Amino acid sequence: MEDFPSYTFSADEDFYFDAATESIYYDQQALHTPRGQISLLHEIAHAELAHFDYRTDFELFAMESQAWMKTRSLAKYYQVPCSDSFIQNCLASYGKWVEARSTCPTCTNFSLQENKTTYRCFSCQTRWHIAEGTEASIRRIKLDD
Ligand SMILES: [Zn+2]
Ligand SMILES: [Zn+2]
Repeated sequence: MEDFPSYTFSADEDFYFDAATESIYYDQQALHTPRGQISLLHEIAHAELAHFDYRTDFELFAMESQAWMKTRSLAKYYQVPCSDSFIQNCLASYGKWVEARSTCPTCTNFSLQENKTTYRCFSCQTRWHIAEGTEASIRRIKLDD
């Protein structure tokens, strides 16, 4: 954390990055585990990449892919064990999440997102709403498996 003086680090119940205040929150207890250290590096990666906001699920997915690539190089630098399969699992769970949200409930076609909360199927014109997805909620799904 000393290497990143431009961010504010604070202990909290979870790992996340608040772009508005350039603050990184971390779970003090989890920091003793490699997975916790990876989570911290991952949030630093978001901060370093200046990830601020996203308009669509795919944008979020792209941001996550970038952040994981960056996490991998940070992990190498700080000598925190971080396996490719762990990263691939994380990305796969984001991928599954996006896929579930973008599949048309009527005809199961792959569909386009109109805005943050609405998808529309270009095949049968069905529209559906999705909950606004935060990274934290995906992360929770991911950590449960
Ligand atoms: Zn992330
Ligand atoms: Zn459809």
